[in-house]
Amino acid sequence: MKQNRHFASDNYSGVCPEAWVAMVEANAGHEVSYGNDTWTQRASDLLREIFEKDCEVFFVFNGTAANSLSLASLCQSYHSILCHELAHIETSECSAPEFFSNGSKILLLGGAGGKIDPARIEGAVNKRTDIHYPKPRALSLTQATETGTVYSPAEVATLAETAKKFGLRVQMDGARFGNAVASLGVSPADITWRAGVDVLCFGGSKNGIALGEAVVFFDRELARDFDYRCKQGGQLASKMRFLSAPWLGMLKDGAWLRHARHANAMAARLSSGLEKIPGVEILYPVQSNAVFAKIPAAAEEKLHALGWQFYTGVITPGESRLMCSWDTTTEDVDGFIADLREIAA
Ligand SMILES: *Cc1c(COP(=O)(O)O)cnc(C)c1O
Repeated sequence: MKQNRHFASDNYSGVCPEAWVAMVEANAGHEVSYGNDTWTQRASDLLREIFEKDCEVFFVFNGTAANSLSLASLCQSYHSILCHELAHIETSECSAPEFFSNGSKILLLGGAGGKIDPARIEGAVNKRTDIHYPKPRALSLTQATETGTVYSPAEVATLAETAKKFGLRVQMDGARFGNAVASLGVSPADITWRAGVDVLCFGGSKNGIALGEAVVFFDRELARDFDYRCKQGGQLASKMRFLSAPWLGMLKDGAWLRHARHANAMAARLSSGLEKIPGVEILYPVQSNAVFAKIPAAAEEKLHALGWQFYTGVITPGESRLMCSWDTTTEDVDGFIADLREIAA
């Protein structure tokens, strides 16, 4: 069997129809450049509507830029950023957050299941308060987390409240924000600004857009000069409408949530099939579109030989990560399970 859809990453998927149609519509003629176009205006307005807040919105090319530039806008070079030890900003952004903030240091916090333990914040802040240590200034949360778990609104609120007590601003890496909202069944406002988040990096690529993330500042004051930061960082698209129009397509009739819900459902289906296979163990609660499983090494090798692509050891050696996308089908999931069941037998 040769399948053309895989579980390696949710960014292996293509562009969803809603985003594609919007790109085609945006291609109908000439438009004003550098974000002064009607598509960008409408997509930003729609984000303000969805978040029930008069937020400031910017569209950038990818998640690394969104995280790095938003964190840079919260910190001076002598500050530090607290995040979970598995956070993408620490493990997978080639120190771009430190680079764009001119040296803000990332300090790591522990916590089970990829989630920051709020008690660790105080420990990190009070570890040192002297002038020789980088002053903690921001807390970065990943929603959904790197292990596919999600923070509830109460958990976000507790973390943000603790952070604010120590004068920290709160940034959210929402590369899979749609999956988190779909999983929790809450309003986007409830797990962001109402819970104390100051700025959100809202992921588009993994949700079904070709490329691009929205940086959403709930506190407009923090967005001051962010347009200059984007331009200097190589993140101001001249044909901005092709970054923003897909957002309009995704947001205007709820496609972003529909696709996220579907990806989550495929992960749930995959997890419940896998856990019935002897020798296979599910490693984290499946709360979004990721399934982490321990698959015997010999079986994993055979799955790869059959053409299935997925990563092992992204977080811990020997642990496989299976990501579902907006276009993952029940046949993909059932086919994978059937192949593994046969291999395990
Ligand atoms: C994918 C991802 C990003 C963004 O990565 P880019 O490749 O820079 O777009 C950011 N945070 C998390 C948690 C991710 O999984």
